[in-house]
Amino acid sequence: MTITELRKKFIEGSYTPLDAYTDTRATIDAKDQDIHAFLDVYDDGRESAEKATNIYKEKGEETPLLLGMPLAIKNNILIKGKKATAASKILENYIAPYDATVITRLKEQGAVFVGSTNLDEFAMGSSTENSAFGLTKNPVDPTRVPGGSSGGSAAAVAMGAAVASLGTDTGGSVRLPASFCGVVGFKPTYGRVSRSGLIAMGSSLDQAGTLTNSVRDAEILFNSINGKDPLDATTINVDTYSQVRAKDTYRIGIPRDFLSNEGMDPDVLQVFNDTIENLSKVGHEIVDISLPLMRKGLAAYYIVMPAEVSSNLARYDGVRFGLHVDGDSLLEDYMKTRAEGFGDEVKRRILLGTYVLSAGYYDAYYGKAEHLRTMMREELLQVYKNVDLIMTPTAPTPAFKIGEKSDPLSMYLADIFTVPVNLTGVPAISIPAGTVDRDGISLPVGVQYIAPHAGDERLFDFGKKIYDEGVMQSE
Ligand code: GLN
Repeated sequence: MTITELRKKFIEGSYTPLDAYTDTRATIDAKDQDIHAFLDVYDDGRESAEKATNIYKEKGEETPLLLGMPLAIKNNILIKGKKATAASKILENYIAPYDATVITRLKEQGAVFVGSTNLDEFAMGSSTENSAFGLTKNPVDPTRVPGGSSGGSAAAVAMGAAVASLGTDTGGSVRLPASFCGVVGFKPTYGRVSRSGLIAMGSSLDQAGTLTNSVRDAEILFNSINGKDPLDATTINVDTYSQVRAKDTYRIGIPRDFLSNEGMDPDVLQVFNDTIENLSKVGHEIVDISLPLMRKGLAAYYIVMPAEVSSNLARYDGVRFGLHVDGDSLLEDYMKTRAEGFGDEVKRRILLGTYVLSAGYYDAYYGKAEHLRTMMREELLQVYKNVDLIMTPTAPTPAFKIGEKSDPLSMYLADIFTVPVNLTGVPAISIPAGTVDRDGISLPVGVQYIAPHAGDERLFDFGKKIYDEGVMQSE
């Protein structure tokens, strides 16, 4: 069910938030042993669900849109009094001392938190195999990964254990798992959603995003979490941008040069091309565009992101947060704690980041990557003079097998279409577009739509429209 459908029932009283909570718990009990989407399940969700049930009885339609909605939250987003581990051993027993701003806003609406979801350690990965607490499986085909790093959040929604969930997206971590699990994944414009209370990965790239069963639900969830926040100086004021709104037909740019990368599965490309055809049948205009710099995005991302990771993760020193391992000196305490607490992928990125920021290499690597980033932004600005949206596949493949991408470089390639979006700060949404067959199982495939800076509302308008026009099968 969608948030919209649930809400109708909650208002009628034919199904209550308490029923929804009980049913999601039953789903978790039945399926999560195998799928492992959750790291923690919250018993106190029942209390909030009961409360919400009573408020609906009293106030009906005059209630906030998210009242009583069972939501799952990625475990790198702080909920006061709950464990916030980022799926790392170094934070295994860390209890969040305050609420992230997004959580404060959801609590104000009376949303019900059913539990926290699994992720790649510190959100580094594309498969949720990098969690220190065991991997998550794809509910569509449990021999495959759910995508990452918000794999638990995507799996939770896909298996019906939450009506919607929050993830974080630094290079595609909401959109990729959405594509692999067959749900809608939305990454807002950088700065529209507060990062206060998100465990930082790459601060100039991170945004909280939504995983939902419909575009409308993404809009509802986004509307309740976005906005300027005094606790995050990079948040921006929305009013300035309200001019970017709906149109009857859209002019959509296809960066063909960017799509011709070798890792692209032919049947995934077919789903993409079919979607283009359906869009033009209902009157949208499709034009070819050229984005020569976008394909360099992945290379720039794997310099900028590790640089920010190495500095953000310096705080885990065994003194201030989580795990502490004793050595013979303070320096040895640091070294032992970090050696034991961090997993391989996290260490790899800290090393890489420290290297690209070191005195001899800063200009050659970090400086160049930041320069490229500025040029990519300019390239986009030029293209958006001529188109309303850009369209790409979300990923070159459907969900891959567990263990298939043991070489980190091959894993990084899964993000080729998503990372340029974070580097340039623009908003994007992955919408399920069709399926491809693997071993007799239909695996979902998403298409990514990218709007200009602060064009989040345009993505919702467009996304809802193409459902209404029948370009997509279901809401
Ligand atoms: N998969 C990408 C990475 O490993 C993106 C991660 C993310 O968006 N958090 O860095």
